[in-house]
Amino acid sequence: MKINEIFKSIQGETTYQGLPAVFIRTTGCNLRCSWCDTTYAYSEGNEYSIEDILKITDKYSCKDIVITGGEPLTQDETLLLIDRLITLGYTVLLETNGSLDISIVHPDTIRILDIKCPGSGMAENMMWDNIKSLKPHDEVKFVVSDYNDYIWAKSVIESYNLVNLCHVLVMPVFGRLDPKALAGWIINDNLDVRLQLQIHKYIWGPDTRGV
Ligand code: SF4
Repeated sequence: MKINEIFKSIQGETTYQGLPAVFIRTTGCNLRCSWCDTTYAYSEGNEYSIEDILKITDKYSCKDIVITGGEPLTQDETLLLIDRLITLGYTVLLETNGSLDISIVHPDTIRILDIKCPGSGMAENMMWDNIKSLKPHDEVKFVVSDYNDYIWAKSVIESYNLVNLCHVLVMPVFGRLDPKALAGWIINDNLDVRLQLQIHKYIWGPDTRGV
């Protein structure tokens, strides 16, 4: 597999926010979001065997593993890696961009499914059938860059009844949308979602890699 970086940190997002985890960031992405904060993962990386990766995760002695990118599902080996990690007893979270089929992933994986809002420039690439395979332990994530994105996300949440399917996360694009504005819209609309801030960026700064 081509891997951009492997490191241990605190989970900055999701309902696992604040817990330690080992992050495996794969190289390559099939999308180009306007606000992407991991452009370095588009092509930078080195080849690792699955055995190499398992040796590294073992050394960290941490039960939670986050597989992120880039887009992990652009590499077929990601499915094998997840199977091996789950067999070894890890809790595996997969962050995936919503454009590729998530139904083929091991059923015990906690899938964090992005639904790209129009401001990303990638909304047309969403694979909407992914919503049919969501389980209660999965999470959907909307990254919102402005009020138009928020209204769009709200309409998707309501039309697919997402809050009754799984966890729903809504977060502002860091440095572009004031979290106070997003919090106010959620409160005013009584939207039953979880506002997320990327706490790793508040702890270590927005441009620090490997955290
Ligand atoms: S899907 Fe993720 S890695 Fe790919 S361009 Fe969008 S934000 Fe960047």
